[in-house]
Amino acid sequence: MELDPRPVQYKGLQWLLMFATLTPLASVALYEWSQPFKAQLPYYLSAALALGLWAGNRWAHGRRRFRLLLSIEAQGLLLGLAISTVVASRLAGGPDETTLPVFSAYVMFVFAAVLGLHSSDRALLCCLLPPTLVLLWPSGVLWWQELAVLIIALYLGLAARRQINLWMRMSQAQLRQNKRLLEKFRTLSNQDPLTGLANRRYFDQRLSQAVSDAKRSKNAFCLILLDVDYFKLYNDHFGHQAGDDCLRTVAQILRQASRRQSDTLARFGGEEFVLLLPNTDKRGAQRLAEEIETRLRESDLEHPESGISSRVTLSQGIAQWHPGLSGEALLHQADKAMYEAKLSGRNAIKAA
Ligand code: GH3
Ligand code: MG
Ligand code: MG
Repeated sequence: MELDPRPVQYKGLQWLLMFATLTPLASVALYEWSQPFKAQLPYYLSAALALGLWAGNRWAHGRRRFRLLLSIEAQGLLLGLAISTVVASRLAGGPDETTLPVFSAYVMFVFAAVLGLHSSDRALLCCLLPPTLVLLWPSGVLWWQELAVLIIALYLGLAARRQINLWMRMSQAQLRQNKRLLEKFRTLSNQDPLTGLANRRYFDQRLSQAVSDAKRSKNAFCLILLDVDYFKLYNDHFGHQAGDDCLRTVAQILRQASRRQSDTLARFGGEEFVLLLPNTDKRGAQRLAEEIETRLRESDLEHPESGISSRVTLSQGIAQWHPGLSGEALLHQADKAMYEAKLSGRNAIKAA
């Protein structure tokens, strides 16, 4: 999954809008209190706009996750225009000491925009260009010291932005890698390394899930427990390595036989396998067990030491779940049926 930058963008933008609401109000309180209301008006309007955008975003975000009221560029531009109005109205007053508060507010705004709109180049430009142009306008009243501070502020802002983007990219890459590792770990912890089938751990989870599903739906489901006959003798004859290959081949045959997506095929341990068959009754399970027997016979895996055949064979025990039966009890029944198949001479299918 690609990491979605929008939640980060939303938070940054909201943070900037809050800042853009408070700054003009603070400027009025600190510097412009004695001015006539007309001079204070641009500050109030820009604060109201920022607050309106903030509330609008909250509303849109609450209604549908990650949605913004307007595009982030449009919001940046509106904000930039509002700050320009404040700057222009103040600069129109002439080059006196009171240009300084406007100027420091602008510098702070640059930083806020950098932090708030760091994930969008276009939005940052939309936001910063209007007030910057107003400040740098040829007929403007900038002193050269202010120009120098402006350049430094922009430079620092852009450098900070680059750094933040780098951190973002690094943390996103880290998150993606963690996710990949987690998925790999999850797969490995559910898989039997020799055969690639599900392992006992995963099977146990599926079994308890199947029992709770069946309790609700009242649908039948079955287990088939399968054990390779005389496998110790196979190992003794061909060696452990060949024994491993044989188990892999048997696993492949079982995989081919159980075609339903909902079936769970697992290595139960050693030379034993288990099949969990949701929505299947004893008759269905019996048919599948017979198909496995046929496929194994056709695969022609030699077993010269087997007491009952010249080929590898399986003993299979079937058990069907009924209400009131726990997963453990069902497994016990399948095991008993498999044991009966062994007692009956092996290479057999028995149902509990
Ligand atoms: P039965 O017909 O009664 O099932 O006889 P069996 O020999 O198959 O059963 P037993 O339980 O006596 O022996 C199981 C053998 O399976 C012993 C063990 O060495 C072998 N085995 C278990 N896991 C593996 C494995 O991962 N690889 C190999 N090569 N052999 C294994
Ligand atoms: Mg066994
Ligand atoms: Mg065996």
